[in-house]
Amino acid sequence: MQDVLIIGGGQSGLAVGYFLRRSGLSFSILDGETEPGGAWTHAWPSLTLFSPAQWSSLPGWPMPVGDQTYPGRGEVVRYLSQYEERYKLPVERPVQVKAVLSAPDYLTAVTDRGEWKARSVVSATGTWRAPVVPDYPDQTRFQGSQLHSANYKGPEEFAGKSILVVGGGNSGAQILAEVSQVARATWVTLREPTFLPDDVDGRVLFERATARWEALQDNGAAATPTRGLGDVVMIPAVKVARARGVLTSVRPFVRFTASGVVWDDGTESQVDAVIWCTGFAPALEHLRPLNIIESDGKVAVKGTRSISEPRLWLVGYGEWTGFASATLIGVMRGARQTALEIEAALRKTLVEI
Ligand code: FAD
Repeated sequence: MQDVLIIGGGQSGLAVGYFLRRSGLSFSILDGETEPGGAWTHAWPSLTLFSPAQWSSLPGWPMPVGDQTYPGRGEVVRYLSQYEERYKLPVERPVQVKAVLSAPDYLTAVTDRGEWKARSVVSATGTWRAPVVPDYPDQTRFQGSQLHSANYKGPEEFAGKSILVVGGGNSGAQILAEVSQVARATWVTLREPTFLPDDVDGRVLFERATARWEALQDNGAAATPTRGLGDVVMIPAVKVARARGVLTSVRPFVRFTASGVVWDDGTESQVDAVIWCTGFAPALEHLRPLNIIESDGKVAVKGTRSISEPRLWLVGYGEWTGFASATLIGVMRGARQTALEIEAALRKTLVEI
């Protein structure tokens, strides 16, 4: 029996672990990967952060500044790996948590390596395992290939082909920038993408969004969702694409055919592959037995704590679990608050006993 079980050993789980170390509570972090780094280990090799290293750091230890202004995926994986080593975080991997079950005095995590019991659970499983692909008419008729950005490994397999890159965020822009060098790529976005000015990156966005968030707290108003973090940051590769004239987009097609798509005006295009850069949902299947997942796929929370299951906290899933919580720098606030709340809750229970 542990005091706390953290499910997920990516940046969110590690950040909670960092703060829990100081509490004296016993805890373990169960992670489904074979290596450190969370979802970053699956990202495509050229993925580049939209913030400089100092603005992509977890609590306690800043990410070392490398040669590039914007760190790449490899640097993040290295950083997370060194981070858990540095703070001797008790990560068990690979352990897949299949289900979390409720008992009167504890929660049980049922895993592929047996059962773990704990007085409280933090779910920090991210979104990478739940890629979102929108429905289009006749999608199943399409004979070409379809893959989500979660499974994109680089442009090589698309050389010489006709490709649709669907999605107007940073993933879509970055993948379009490199695929268009080897393939005939069309960028499909719901509306005209919002490009940030060349001198604005994730750091500036984070500062602005933090100021707005603090103002809202001071005014006693509820924090509104932060716009801007999804807008396209002009990292060097995207600027090069703009200079080559490929950073233009068209509105969505209306349906698939066996060999391509039909556009709004009735014209058809032959397409070899579609790359869906259409985002992610929270990966919460392991919580389904608790009957707390709502119709929108989320869990009702106050801060990061589940309202219906108060022994459960959820960290790092995006705005609904804390402002900018699905970013390296943004997860800190929710992680600290979570550790403090767990400590208070468990100590209170002990006093009551
Ligand atoms: P994850 O990294 O997904 O870690 C969750 C861990 O939990 C994984 O190791 C997984 O294996 C494990 N897990 C999941 N389910 C289970 C289970 N049932 N049992 C056991 N283990 C489980 N953020 C920035 O700050 N800057 C950026 O520039 C930036 N760029 C991004 C670009 C892209 C294309 C994307 C998709 C995201 C980007 N992000 C960026 C966002 C964010 O940093 C990542 O999404 C981050 O990986 C979230 O961390 P996490 O720890 O919450 O989840």
